[in-house]
Amino acid sequence: MSAPEESHFLTRTRCPICRSEESSLKIVHRVSFAHSTLQNYFRSFYADFPEAVALLQKVDGDLEIVECTQCHSHHQRRLPKDDWLNQFYSRTIPSLDEPTGIDPYFVEQRAREWSMVLRYLDAQFGRQPRTLDYGCGPGQWLRFIGAYAADAHGCDVALDARSSVEKWGARFFPADGIAEQAPFDFIHTEQVLEHVSDPHGVISALANKLSPGGVLQIGVPFDPELKSKVEAPDWNASKNTPASMNALAPLEHLQHFSPQSFPILAERLGLEVLSTEGWALISPTEKRTAIEVARRRVAALLRRRQEEYHPYWRRAQTWFLQKPAL
Ligand SMILES: [Zn+2]
Repeated sequence: MSAPEESHFLTRTRCPICRSEESSLKIVHRVSFAHSTLQNYFRSFYADFPEAVALLQKVDGDLEIVECTQCHSHHQRRLPKDDWLNQFYSRTIPSLDEPTGIDPYFVEQRAREWSMVLRYLDAQFGRQPRTLDYGCGPGQWLRFIGAYAADAHGCDVALDARSSVEKWGARFFPADGIAEQAPFDFIHTEQVLEHVSDPHGVISALANKLSPGGVLQIGVPFDPELKSKVEAPDWNASKNTPASMNALAPLEHLQHFSPQSFPILAERLGLEVLSTEGWALISPTEKRTAIEVARRRVAALLRRRQEEYHPYWRRAQTWFLQKPAL
């Protein structure tokens, strides 16, 4: 992998999430790429990726963090173009050939989550759903989902993922080949959209590939303190510490979605936001009788355990968006 010239960088002039124009964008932080604090941070954060450090040493100008006043997301204004990013992400794919162990919490949360989705989809379709994991990496989710749904597909920019994915009985295709695929009943994309240069374009492409009544599950990082942290970022704060700027790590996390981003996106793309009740997915158009509502409330009170839906990932937000049925 060779470091790109300056011309291989692009500058965003619209919100990459809601596509609002420049008049809605506010630069909330600006620091020279050459600043020693930032260069120290790059050397530490990308110690395993010397190409990334070399690239970031060459970049002229400023690192700029932008807030969108429409969808309240944040993004990096300058970033390498897709050819460099795709090579970079191909390098970060871990191998599952020799699993190091299974996290029981992962299994429990994923099993409960998928049971919730499957119950909902079964009521919509009454058939085994055709599923896709967009940005599947080596296929951890597909390995799990394959135990339930035979018709599982995965795609990624990292073509090396194919052998792992096929080992779990799923079909693989390159991420840029999605337009040729038949529609899916359920599309899952986890910890992917913060890495892509055009998240609006990707979500739009995924929405186009949902069958009527199909569901798109999106999981992205969420740092509730980010809005205040960007005013005076501490680039030296380590990952997983309260002051960490990891949610907007240059090269890696190109945008940070706010909870307001998704209802706006859904409306623009003709999707409906599903909510959760306990571990059930609920359509906003679903009508309930008063007796049904009361019965559910009493049942929830009687269950002494906390039965709210929790995504597996910490510091993340998960959204379920549905394409209206015909
Ligand atoms: Zn926006």
